[in-house]
Amino acid sequence: MRKQIAAANWKMNLSVSEAEILLDQLLASEHNLSANQEAIFAVPAIYIPLATQKLAGKNNVYVAAQNCHPKANGAYTGEISAPMFASVGVKHIVLGHSERREYFNESDAFLAEKTNAVLAIGSTPIFCCGEPLEIREAGTQNSFVEAQLKNSLFHLTADQITKVVIAYEPIWAIGTGKTASSEQAQEIHAYIRSVFATKYGQAIADQISILYGGSVKAANAKEIFSQPDVDGGLVGGASLIASEFAAIINALK
Ligand code: PEP
Repeated sequence: MRKQIAAANWKMNLSVSEAEILLDQLLASEHNLSANQEAIFAVPAIYIPLATQKLAGKNNVYVAAQNCHPKANGAYTGEISAPMFASVGVKHIVLGHSERREYFNESDAFLAEKTNAVLAIGSTPIFCCGEPLEIREAGTQNSFVEAQLKNSLFHLTADQITKVVIAYEPIWAIGTGKTASSEQAQEIHAYIRSVFATKYGQAIADQISILYGGSVKAANAKEIFSQPDVDGGLVGGASLIASEFAAIINALK
């Protein structure tokens, strides 16, 4: 059974004291994770030790990084590598968020390198894909997303691809308050799974968790997560409010 995941993406938000308060509120809130469910917190890198310490001992709860450099070490001032994150207990790294693709010019080829780096140390890439508004309006979102996946992931073996979590995030729905309808989410999630099935076979594709991201909140999470090919969400804005994110965790299948 593939994992159902609620992943928080705090982005570049919160002071350390605000981060501490949010983690304490989350710890105090009611959320129940069953064996196939996970809650993942992609916090700013500087807060990883704090979050790891606060969430220690919580079953199926993980602290993640929001990005990494593909090289293990070297003269890359300001960067942090996948092995460095692993050394402080991080097991998941978000890759290819549309904000990084847009503001930091991250290419599919560069993301392929990062994916290799994360898998090489036994961690899980949370690989983001998704189309901008003009592509959605042109109706070519399937081929756009397919190209992102092929260019960055299709060199992986079947065993490796089952270790990748996909986050489909239509750019027009990120931070805009506009959410893809549950039908739109299901349609493209099913397409993404079919892309992996064609390359790796249905049994492998069925093991891959595909998260939806784009203005997920407590009020819409259950409806979106109820779709058969939606395996949870990657959540930005609503993950900064403890009661919202706790409700989103509880909306997992
Ligand atoms: C995100 O940052 O990945 C995201 C989906 O943001 P939001 O939930 O705010 O749309």
